[in-house]
Amino acid sequence: METVIVKFSDIDIRNSAGGKEDHPIDAGSFQGKIAAAGKILKEGGLVAFPTETVYGLGADALNPQASRKIYEAKGRPSDNPLIVHISNMEDLGKITAKVPEQAKKLAAEFWPGPLTMIFEKSPLVPLETTGGLQTVAVRMPDHPIALGLIQAGGGFVAAPSANTSGRPSPTTAEHVAQDMEGRIPMILDGGPVGIGIESTIVDVSGDMPMILRPGYITKEMVQEAIGPVALDPGLTAENEAVRPKAPGMKYKHYAPKGQLILVDGEREAVQAEIIRLSKEAAAKGQNVGVIGTDETWGSYPYGIVKSIGTREDEETIARHLYGVLREFDEQDVEIIYSESFSAPGIGQAIMNRLLKAAGHHVLTAPKREG
Ligand code: AMP
Ligand code: MG
Repeated sequence: METVIVKFSDIDIRNSAGGKEDHPIDAGSFQGKIAAAGKILKEGGLVAFPTETVYGLGADALNPQASRKIYEAKGRPSDNPLIVHISNMEDLGKITAKVPEQAKKLAAEFWPGPLTMIFEKSPLVPLETTGGLQTVAVRMPDHPIALGLIQAGGGFVAAPSANTSGRPSPTTAEHVAQDMEGRIPMILDGGPVGIGIESTIVDVSGDMPMILRPGYITKEMVQEAIGPVALDPGLTAENEAVRPKAPGMKYKHYAPKGQLILVDGEREAVQAEIIRLSKEAAAKGQNVGVIGTDETWGSYPYGIVKSIGTREDEETIARHLYGVLREFDEQDVEIIYSESFSAPGIGQAIMNRLLKAAGHHVLTAPKREG
């Protein structure tokens, strides 16, 4: 299958609001491109598109055959449900059995945005889309191309991240092409995404709201909007028998091809330990990588060293995380040592993704003398 890559310029994206007088939309531009992509969705095909979090692989969420194609293209296990993307609040009522008050508050606060909520589903949503569950995950993304595509495609777009299952999520159209070229008819290229890690998932279908996947919207932000919220114990449990409630969170995921190992501990001890380990690996002839930050990367003498962002602004770390893991793949790096990040705020989402990419392989740097 030939994959058409459709580029959107900044002017296209700015014009998306409907053609302001000073920026009239020309025929070949935003609406035309979106209409062509929407037609593919309506005919049951797949289109990859940018959102503010990561690139998604979209299909008509109400068409079971179309949803099945997503699992096929990604090689995704069929028990891992898809998130349904909508573009307006009226459509939420059509695919859910009920919308609890707390969900309305969260939607008012964070939609459109990087928040997914789990609801009881309505009969309109096929089980193929929900991985056999009676609940449905719903998000309204904050991106003009995504919102335009959802409207043009019939209003309900099922979309997981547009990577091959198990690989790092795509944050550019080039990443999508690496995984999906030849497998899907169209990729919409809106440039690099803004956030870089997947949405926060909050289950609002039970009595107590619960975070099933940490993301850009932190637990503190959710609590400020609706009061107490739990964190799925399966996310942090050392005990493998305590499984995460979001089916997708149990898989090793986001992983680079090389073995990733996180080094935890006091800042300077971590640096010294990474230098020791990378020196040892290089001496053995291994192609070794190091993940540092703007503050530290210049101090690592061995291996391929990359900065993932600055500790002064952890959002930069979220934005570069998956891209850095993919770069190590391209350079055939066999073993990667990474600094760790602390858990409050968005650091929790960053560590959650790094731990999964590392298959929970963490070393504690020995305390330094004196
Ligand atoms: P992705 O879109 O690839 O980031 O994956 C979607 C995530 O949402 C996966 O971790 C799924 O397990 C989770 N998810 C989707 N629907 C549900 C649901 N009904 N209940 C719990 N988790 C869900
Ligand atoms: Mg994914």
